Amino acid sequence: MWENDNILLIYSNTSYATMNVYEIPGIGIDSNIYILLEGEQAFIVDAGMSAHQYYIKDNIQRHVDLDAVACIIITHEHFDHTGGIDILTEICPNAQVCMHRKCMYALQRKMAGTSTAMGRQMPTVHRILKDGDIIELGSSQLEVISTPGHSFGSMCLYDKKTETLISGDTVFSNGGFGRTDLEGGDLTDLVKSLKKLMKLKIKNIYPGHGPSIIGEGNHHLTLAYRNALSIL
Ligand SMILES: [Zn+2]
Repeated sequence: MWENDNILLIYSNTSYATMNVYEIPGIGIDSNIYILLEGEQAFIVDAGMSAHQYYIKDNIQRHVDLDAVACIIITHEHFDHTGGIDILTEICPNAQVCMHRKCMYALQRKMAGTSTAMGRQMPTVHRILKDGDIIELGSSQLEVISTPGHSFGSMCLYDKKTETLISGDTVFSNGGFGRTDLEGGDLTDLVKSLKKLMKLKIKNIYPGHGPSIIGEGNHHLTLAYRNALSIL
């Protein structure tokens, strides 16, 4: 009997809440979309382009009540991550749109250009983020890390408790990193951003495109840094 008591004690000491991450893989050039869930509260990261709204709605509903989505957090201003913001805010009526200050400025500039706006309006931004901000999801604290390079307004989200990085297009799996030849891109800045991320302890990386990395985040990040440095 004492063995059973001991087992119960061990389990009670290791029980604590953590954030769960569910991926909605991007179709075509759409970005991946992530659902971050802890308890009853959920955030969505990135919005895709808007072409696959029924696929996206169906996948969100599989994991969370649509009314429980409190935030849509955007990693950067590119259209494959932002084009679906309006549709996502319709699907998730209580969600507030959050993005980095520099991402918002870059998106405003794009929307002002008739050639790239394609008739769309600048989405309402409810919370403007900056480097070092903390976004609370249940007991988890997501840190905003500004990572310019792939674009002017790129950022990552880091959860220290689970050693998880939501990386946007700054870093991908297997040493990949976001292109820097689009407007607002800068390879020198990207190398600096990758070096900044390497100071963190990272197990899991959830990138804006391609497969997720579970358990070897720092290894993949180091590969990306070396690859980017080699072409600087
Ligand atoms: Zn991008």
